[in-house]
Amino acid sequence: MENQKQSADVPKWSALLVEAINKPGLIMEAYSAFHNYSIGNQLLALVQCHLRGLQAGPINTFPKWQALGRVVKRGERALTLCMPITRKQREEESEEEHTFTSFAYKPRWFVLSQTVGEEVEPATVPEWDAEQALAALSIERVAFDKTDGNCQGFARKRQIAINPVAQLPYKTLFHELAHVILGHTTEADFADTETTPRNLREVEAEAVALLCCESLSLEGADYCRGYIQNWLYQGAGFDADAIPEKSAQKILRAADQILRAGRSTTERSAQYAN
Ligand SMILES: [Zn+2]
Repeated sequence: MENQKQSADVPKWSALLVEAINKPGLIMEAYSAFHNYSIGNQLLALVQCHLRGLQAGPINTFPKWQALGRVVKRGERALTLCMPITRKQREEESEEEHTFTSFAYKPRWFVLSQTVGEEVEPATVPEWDAEQALAALSIERVAFDKTDGNCQGFARKRQIAINPVAQLPYKTLFHELAHVILGHTTEADFADTETTPRNLREVEAEAVALLCCESLSLEGADYCRGYIQNWLYQGAGFDADAIPEKSAQKILRAADQILRAGRSTTERSAQYAN
């Protein structure tokens, strides 16, 4: 999601993330309707549906709907999503070819309710398996060897451990996975207690945990939401920019990686768009 040109009418990723933090249920609705897409695009699609009063549901491009036996209704405007564009470029001197990926916003998608035609099978939300995710992410779960009773879990290098009596085991699992995926553990080890300290790395890990918990309807989202909202209310009042755009992009990408890694391989490869 880097190097992307963003047109003025498309919200920033950080704004979408703050919206999801402040509106319980938004992430779950986005995930159940659009789980084939990246979380950023899920939220982008959902806010457009809400703005236009469209029912959230499967989305496809015009030709894909045609292939499915449906046509886009006359006068319907396409939804805008962010898509990767890969270009090859040959270097003049060395003749070496390089591949560049940039991102662009394109109005190319239509939600089911904007189309008519043959019935489509309702989509089922894919199962998520923790062991599968750990294996796919090359992260090892090790025994919890801390004696501090307040410690819920820790992350070091590519290892994580969860206290067997952690209060919110899934939340802690996602939080520790996030520390690894976000690259935090290359800088330091993380031992997380019941009270998460106020710093940006903890906000990033906790936001990933929120996105994962709420997408999968697992316990812990409320706790994460409270922590992050507290971060957004710094000192004087609500600061919507308290989560930098760069962090928002990292958060969305990490949550995406975790959610995708835990699906069965057939589900992972199934028309994963963007
Ligand atoms: Zn932490």
